[in-house]
Amino acid sequence: MGILDAVFRKRHPEEERLQNIVDRLTFHPIRVIVSDDEQPEALSLLNEDGRELILISRGLLRHLSEDELYFVLAHEVAHHILGHLYVKFLTFQIKNAIMEAIRPKPSWFDRIFRGKTDSPWWLQIIDVVSEILLNKTILMEEEMEADIKAIELLKIAGFPLTGAYRFFRRLQTEESFMDELYSMIDEHPSPGDRLNNLLKHYPELAGNKI
Ligand SMILES: [Zn+2]
Repeated sequence: MGILDAVFRKRHPEEERLQNIVDRLTFHPIRVIVSDDEQPEALSLLNEDGRELILISRGLLRHLSEDELYFVLAHEVAHHILGHLYVKFLTFQIKNAIMEAIRPKPSWFDRIFRGKTDSPWWLQIIDVVSEILLNKTILMEEEMEADIKAIELLKIAGFPLTGAYRFFRRLQTEESFMDELYSMIDEHPSPGDRLNNLLKHYPELAGNKI
């Protein structure tokens, strides 16, 4: 589903409730969209006009308890508040500019008679490797930062904080081998690392009193 389709289609019945939660968490005009995707997924993004969006899939909504939902939404809101999407955008713009600069530009003669291409195998490898490295460095840090900020936002808005601990504990136990494999190339740190990071800042999250 394209972003434009998502913006102009009929609103999902859950969207108004989710929008109210997000509006309580921030003054930023962030629009919540529920996608029909069955794959559990939540992400923050900017549309073509630079408008701030949070996309959450129906599959994920079905999996989350109420307090987990608060945490997941607060995490995505935090990405917007902390300006992460601009950092990501600029980082990849710069990477793409460098790729463009080193890309060979074969003449029409080389292209037709010698079969040369402007996207040889070594360039594709550099592209993939640099993408993984950028994800592993900048974007990993951002996940941890967004988790911390999410708790702060939930506290200020008066939402329960219990969802964070529950969410990561569940991810840890439900994480399959394939997820482990994906997490090696994905920008998200493991649930265990993220939980430990949160507990370092907010040890009270592990207690029963919240
Ligand atoms: Zn995130």
